[in-house]
Amino acid sequence: MTKVLYPGSFDPITKGHMNIIKQASELFDEVVVAVLQNRSKKQGLFSLEERIQIIEQLYKEVDRVKVILGSGAAVDLAFQYGCEAIIRGIRGISDYDHEVQIAMTNKDISENRINTILLFADKEYQFVSSSTVKEVFELDKDISRYVEPTVKQKMLEKRR
Ligand code: ADP
Repeated sequence: MTKVLYPGSFDPITKGHMNIIKQASELFDEVVVAVLQNRSKKQGLFSLEERIQIIEQLYKEVDRVKVILGSGAAVDLAFQYGCEAIIRGIRGISDYDHEVQIAMTNKDISENRINTILLFADKEYQFVSSSTVKEVFELDKDISRYVEPTVKQKMLEKRR
């Protein structure tokens, strides 16, 4: 049985993230989605607990997808949850440099034990990001193309 870890901030989870999770779950037996506090980003829109609740709700009927709250290094979480590799998604060349740096660092600090597998979102999701979803929402434009109805609903509740 092959498990993989998909770490990220997921603030909020978008259809782009979900497309990567779907692809990963077709390739591997289990995908552990790890919601991590991103140190370089300011206070998010949702708390870590809210992000987890949303993802749990979206995948409550999908056995192959688990959600955890992660702290510390992604490679340590991978060891802790028995994951053989880390999954990351790539939108285009602008993600590439950043992802290569993280992947090489993770490989190095895990003594070459944890590799990163980069997956490409289907073309309709290639430009979707949590930050643009938040911006479009703030502009009062519809975000239904980018997030599931549950996520949109939670964003509307936040605004109230
Ligand atoms: P970050 O680590 O920058 O906070 P996110 O939590 O937004 O990243 O995303 C986690 C991972 O999912 C990253 O590898 C990111 O590149 C990838 N990702 C996010 N949105 C998409 C998308 N639309 N298509 C492909 N990959 C994506």
